[in-house]
Amino acid sequence: MVVVLEHDIRDSHKQRIREFLEQHGFQVREIVGVEETIFGAVGPVSIDIRNVEVLPGVDKVVPISKPYKLASRELKKSDSVVHIGRIAFGGPRMTVVAGPCAVEGREEIMEAARIVRKSGAVMLRGGAFKPRTSPYSFQGLGEEGLRYLKEAGEANGMPVISEIVSPLHVDMMRDYVDMFQIGTRNMQNFELLKAVGAAEKPIMLKRGLCSTIEEWLMAAEYLLAHGAEDVILCERGIRTFETYTRNSLDISSIPVVKKLSHLPIVVDPSHATGIRAKVPPVARAAVAAGADGIIVEVHPDPDRALSDGAQSLFPEQFEKLMRDIEAMTPVVGRELMRLPEPQENRPAFRGTDRTEHEVVRVAFQGARGAYSETALLRYFQSRETVPTPVSSFRDVFTAVLEGHVEYGMVPLENSLAGSVHENYDLLLQFPDIRIVAETQIRVEHCLIGRPEAELGHIHTVYSHPQGLAQCRAYLEESGFKQMPYYDTAGSVAWIAGCNDDGVAAIASADAARIYGMKVLREGIEQNPHNYTRFAVIARLEHPDVDRPNRCSLVLSTPDSPGALSKCLNVLASYELNLKKLESRPIPGKPWSYMFYLDVEIPEDMSRFERGIAEFASYTEDFRLLGKYRV
Ligand code: PEP
Ligand code: MN
Repeated sequence: MVVVLEHDIRDSHKQRIREFLEQHGFQVREIVGVEETIFGAVGPVSIDIRNVEVLPGVDKVVPISKPYKLASRELKKSDSVVHIGRIAFGGPRMTVVAGPCAVEGREEIMEAARIVRKSGAVMLRGGAFKPRTSPYSFQGLGEEGLRYLKEAGEANGMPVISEIVSPLHVDMMRDYVDMFQIGTRNMQNFELLKAVGAAEKPIMLKRGLCSTIEEWLMAAEYLLAHGAEDVILCERGIRTFETYTRNSLDISSIPVVKKLSHLPIVVDPSHATGIRAKVPPVARAAVAAGADGIIVEVHPDPDRALSDGAQSLFPEQFEKLMRDIEAMTPVVGRELMRLPEPQENRPAFRGTDRTEHEVVRVAFQGARGAYSETALLRYFQSRETVPTPVSSFRDVFTAVLEGHVEYGMVPLENSLAGSVHENYDLLLQFPDIRIVAETQIRVEHCLIGRPEAELGHIHTVYSHPQGLAQCRAYLEESGFKQMPYYDTAGSVAWIAGCNDDGVAAIASADAARIYGMKVLREGIEQNPHNYTRFAVIARLEHPDVDRPNRCSLVLSTPDSPGALSKCLNVLASYELNLKKLESRPIPGKPWSYMFYLDVEIPEDMSRFERGIAEFASYTEDFRLLGKYRV
């Protein structure tokens, strides 16, 4: 059952409730949520819930109807996020685990780790105990393999995961792995589940070859009931009558599990298909269906792999898959989790005494919950971040310049509304500030009401005029009165303070969460291709970005025939690729224009430097706004 505690409950009452439940044979777990704190009470006992309801400090008691209790969404409404050091499974990130099927030797796993890390994997996989169909197939290197796996993970800054097949291995393996994997064949090995559940380590639980979703969630329940705090589910295909692929991936299990459980779910496209060429499309489908990550087999030389070579990706296929996933994630409102560059290349703010401070403060314009805040939380996801709202774009620049924050996040361009000229102008006005990175988010508008609001009773909707305009079709059809507000997230704060359940706002789901409001309708924007590109800005003293591949420039040209074309010819002759060109009137100089350019930086840095120097010689005014990686 779920025991919802009163908001201002006293510690002594909390303690009494816990003791009461434990005395009656329940296991009690405290879950602190944004909206409420609950005790989840489970056990092989039953009780008249009225005896709990009358205890001081109890708001209400809700029975859990499903056979799995701790794994159930009824117990915990918000998505669980499993953290392993800097990486996480669940939440707004897509997490990619990669590596060979089996650890075959020190050199092989070192090479595999280097390759997958370079392409962007954040966790390393590799089996040391291989449950093979034939006793004559390679069985894994056992503890020696785990030693190599750990070494390879550490050398590349990645946590590691490996399969456990026996309760006798728990203590030995605990020192080597960051996450236990329970394989498909052992999903219902209940003694193994009990032992691994008690091991105080995160666990990835693969779906059994022939298991229903309910059996799978019951196996997760075993882990949770025996003490596991962090469980991730892994859909890896099930047996069907189809023989073309090794298994049949049950893609619909992703949304089904998301509805039934709060646990993160990842997909293993390698064991699901068994055929290398089928792995990338199936992995992309998993991303589209809402998986929290994928675990994929990659081998430095798959033709020589000792196990599962036919389904292991070549390194270049994995690199391509990572790029595809990165391109797809904004469409499903996510961001691909990337580990920061190794320490020496990591952008840390220099120039104040806060040099290597782990917490980064990032200024953005608008109220809490603004789309800029979503962008910065996603971009700085691997670091502890303090979003700092300020009231104007100029204030973002000033906060960065004066060192009140390490970074600022400002929108540069929206795919529907075009450039945010004010920020380009500010980049010119603040020569001590430059762009150090860029990030994009997909703008998804929600209709947000007060906690008790009903869609049928809404009469008036507040939002920024652009938010209203981007949802015009939906608003016209609904017949709501439209009221402009100075920003989207601010309109949510405004309805939170209203005493009328008939008012609503248009903003992001993040804004609804931050102000404790309710999402009444998601995705009400007319055009789903609504992206905003943001710049991360920092002071000039910020260390150079490692291997930049894009730069932004602003320039004006002499007032003479062919001036712009001469500049562009220089770019062409140095084979420098132009990604954006936009003209804009120069403030105070009617009918004179400056140009904004984004140029790709090639691998050959010296060609770029020479090209840009010559290019600059043809301009009148030239400013480099930043070199960064996209
Ligand atoms: C594996 O991940 O190497 C493995 C054996 O997977 P499964 O248990 O899904 O077959
Ligand atoms: Mn395998």
